[in-house]
Amino acid sequence: MLSVLRKIVQEVSTAPDLESVLDLIVRRIQRAMRTQVCSIFLFDPQLQRYVLRATQGLNQEAVGQVSLSMGEGIVGQVGQRAEPINLEDASRHPAFHYLQATGEERYHAFLGVPIIHHRSVLGVLVVQQVEHRRFDESEEAFMVTVSAQLAGIIAHAEATGSVNGEQHPQARVQPQRDRHFNGVAAAPGVAIGTVIVATLAAELETVSDKRAVDMEHELASFRAALASVKDDIRTVSQGLAQRLQSDEQALFDVYLRMLDDPALSDAIEQAIVDGNWAQGALREVILTQVRQFNAMEDAYLRERATDIRDLGRRILSYLQESAGPVAIDCADDSILIADELSPTMLGLVPEDKLVGLVSVSGSGNSHAAIMARAVGIPTVMGVVDLPFTRLEGRQIIVDGYSGRVYVNPSDKLLEAFREVIREERAVAAGLESLRDLPAETTDGYRMPLWVNTGLVADVTRSLERGAEGIGLYRTEIPFMIRDFFPSEQEQLNSYRSQLEAFAPRPVTMRTLDIGGDKALPYFPIEEDNPFLGWRGIRVTLDHPEIFLVQVRAMLRASEGLNNLRIMLPMVTSVHEVEEALRQIDQALTELQEEGYAVQRPLVGVMVEVPAAVYQVRRFARLVDFVSVGSNDLTQYILAVDRNNPRVAGLYAAYHPAVLRALQYIARETRKEGKPVSICGEMAADPGGSLLLMAMGYEVLSMNANNLPRVKSAIRGVSLARAQSLLTRVLRMDDAEEIHQYLRQSLKQLGLGQLTRPRLPHQTGDSA
Ligand code: PEP
Ligand code: MG
Repeated sequence: MLSVLRKIVQEVSTAPDLESVLDLIVRRIQRAMRTQVCSIFLFDPQLQRYVLRATQGLNQEAVGQVSLSMGEGIVGQVGQRAEPINLEDASRHPAFHYLQATGEERYHAFLGVPIIHHRSVLGVLVVQQVEHRRFDESEEAFMVTVSAQLAGIIAHAEATGSVNGEQHPQARVQPQRDRHFNGVAAAPGVAIGTVIVATLAAELETVSDKRAVDMEHELASFRAALASVKDDIRTVSQGLAQRLQSDEQALFDVYLRMLDDPALSDAIEQAIVDGNWAQGALREVILTQVRQFNAMEDAYLRERATDIRDLGRRILSYLQESAGPVAIDCADDSILIADELSPTMLGLVPEDKLVGLVSVSGSGNSHAAIMARAVGIPTVMGVVDLPFTRLEGRQIIVDGYSGRVYVNPSDKLLEAFREVIREERAVAAGLESLRDLPAETTDGYRMPLWVNTGLVADVTRSLERGAEGIGLYRTEIPFMIRDFFPSEQEQLNSYRSQLEAFAPRPVTMRTLDIGGDKALPYFPIEEDNPFLGWRGIRVTLDHPEIFLVQVRAMLRASEGLNNLRIMLPMVTSVHEVEEALRQIDQALTELQEEGYAVQRPLVGVMVEVPAAVYQVRRFARLVDFVSVGSNDLTQYILAVDRNNPRVAGLYAAYHPAVLRALQYIARETRKEGKPVSICGEMAADPGGSLLLMAMGYEVLSMNANNLPRVKSAIRGVSLARAQSLLTRVLRMDDAEEIHQYLRQSLKQLGLGQLTRPRLPHQTGDSA
């Protein structure tokens, strides 16, 4: 059964549209289970009914015609209860509702299982038989398994159809107006703009459809790319001729024959003539052929699917190379969509044209999201069902407050969101006046507000917003946008510009923190569990040559300025801190011996893992300061991957366990007389900043963009009030309750404008 299941899932996942997906499912399941009937009812949210969408065994004319409301008939019952119903004779069930047009009166045995995706029931999968019999346990288990696996594919195909308007036997379905896709709110704000899809290098699935501007040019590029791939294969084949057996050599001939086959190039050229650009036409034709080969019974022919995909990728590489970067001539208001957004992709669209970001994978605390918040671009991540390759050039709305992406927005919805944007601008303008005022509570407590930096633009923005220091300079960012490790001199130059721009204010430089979701293209780390793997200090202690060069560059950059602080990420054990301190001392001595006038900087540790929480006093004794990385600390305390959209709902910064840990760290560090600060995203939240101030954090470091909001929150309360807020919150058991309470409190303090605005879907303006 397992292999049958695998085969069904594989075949279905390459079907081109919802119709074929559903059709394949009913045909394959009917055959696998040897039943007379297999049908799928899908829930139509507009009709609020389960509609028969595909069947094998019932009358085909009934497809699209018969439907049941929620709870109506046995199908409606399966949907409502979200569990299987298995009956010897359906007609004897009290909820039985005879659907005349289907011809189902002959069938007695009935098994219906719900199709559930992300907790909601998409529809019901049914098998029926003439005999009176209960389907046995293994049959029921098979149906539940197959339905769970197919749910995601159905959801995706349904989403694509609703965006595009798909050809159904009954009617041409209009693209659904105001259709929205849910993701994770990653950077606040609203954006209305035109989509640009970031295609990954040689990834056919990420290529979008785009109207060709110059058909002749597209045809010529395709022919040139094809010729280059043929040349490559011939060259490799000749080079290996001596070393290969004749049957291995034959593989190259197969490749060349496939490329020479006019059917392939004709189909691609036809798709270009029909209006698609070369890359889109290539994807269209290659993926169709892959699907066709995959569906073949013959194992040898099925293998050809891999070959054709490989050839497609090779051609794509050449096309991408000749086309150059994605977004040269983008619209003024561009929204970049990527399958997996990375910090470096932010550079694909010029900053003044980029208004919004959407990522199909990733989550709200991944580093791409943190960067997006730093530059203040509304972002939604983890929109797993978004058919992004179909959206090139379309107008969409990105709602970075509630994590929604609207496709095909109506004029009414557009106007409602334009109003939100106007309100946002008014709030931001109001906050500008705070620039030169201190972050001081109404009872005179002064809270230093620092910034987190990494991008070059952060420095100017931070100074404009009145930052008093840098609490976290993410040094890995300049490492990520290069092709190899930067030299000591190159590092020195970029560190010097940060230190100079802020001097005499302190600049906290974190030693290289790679691993997890931050990869260097030239230093790949492949791991099953990267967040529990080789990351942060673990990598650099294993590579003293990288660590020492970085520390030397930092120390030299600070010569004469002496405003450097060095911070160690991801420390778990005392010996790691001791070893890092030893290496820092070594670098310092060497430089002094070489004649540089370098001084010992302040050195601190980040508390980001639970082990460090419980040892924080021991760490505090060894170093000059402690800074909490609440982004990682939250993921490790809650055991929730910060990058995984599937568990994004469980990533709760205000979880009582996280708050207690934060309070404990502040208290314990202060017992050692060492300063304690925080540089995780929680410090950037107006409500969170009040709690942290009350806990005794002495510096809050955040993205420059949020600094004015946090300042406004602090200036709007007394320390005493923040402390009573904390006391109340620490008695609560639930993160959501805490969140709501903080929002309410800000409103009562007259700081309602710092919370998120009222959105169209909350006022009932949207579909
Ligand atoms: C953190 O983990 O809170 C932190 C500040 O570091 P990063 O987000 O870069 O992992
Ligand atoms: Mg971290």
